[in-house]
Amino acid sequence: MNRLEFINAGLTIMGLSHLQPGKIMDTDPNLLIGKGIPKLVGKNYALLPEADKAFREMSAAAQKQGITIKVVSSYRSFERQKSIWNRKFSRFKSEGMQDGEAIRKIIEYSTIPGTSRHHWGTDIDVINAASIQEGDVLLTQKFHDDGPYNTLREWMENHAQDYGFLMPYTKDEKRSGFKYEPWHYSYAPKSIPMLKQYLKLDHRELIFSPDLKGGDELNQEFLKSYIKSHVMGIDPSLLRLI
Ligand SMILES: [Zn+2]
Repeated sequence: MNRLEFINAGLTIMGLSHLQPGKIMDTDPNLLIGKGIPKLVGKNYALLPEADKAFREMSAAAQKQGITIKVVSSYRSFERQKSIWNRKFSRFKSEGMQDGEAIRKIIEYSTIPGTSRHHWGTDIDVINAASIQEGDVLLTQKFHDDGPYNTLREWMENHAQDYGFLMPYTKDEKRSGFKYEPWHYSYAPKSIPMLKQYLKLDHRELIFSPDLKGGDELNQEFLKSYIKSHVMGIDPSLLRLI
């Protein structure tokens, strides 16, 4: 039995056979960095067909409990991530930060274009549309205590994994990289093999973009440590095969 078969057998025993990672597919590297044209589906969002199917099943189950899962972010292209990055970079620079400082501040929550899980069509940011939606909805306090999305967070923590959705950016203090994001879920059966393939890419070459702000700071050494701390700084459940 090889390692993949061993893991799959374990998942079967745990009743999680639907989460079994398949053999590593050969995804076009451009699709892993948001530069390709993926085949995506969804009404008010865009996901890979398999992730969309699982999402719709999960939403229907949540709806029975009065929770209306609304996707506020799903697929995002390289260009879209670059505009988010450049806007934040300019804002932090205008507040007096040096380039390196601005970059460290951006990567508390946002990714370098070409390194976002949102490029894959497997990851979503969700809120509860049955609750109030005002101002910036993706704030940690809105997902806890008497915040409007506390019931959604509790439901997702208990049930999302049954549909293959796992949380990459957990509250675990031992985790490095991006801060805790109770709203972000990833469709593991697809994103695990995609991450495995992604980690083999030459990132410096792939994410290069002439109008990326602060690009000079993002040298080979910086990217190597960022990939380790941030891209791999996720819950171990999403690193199962790596
Ligand atoms: Zn997200």
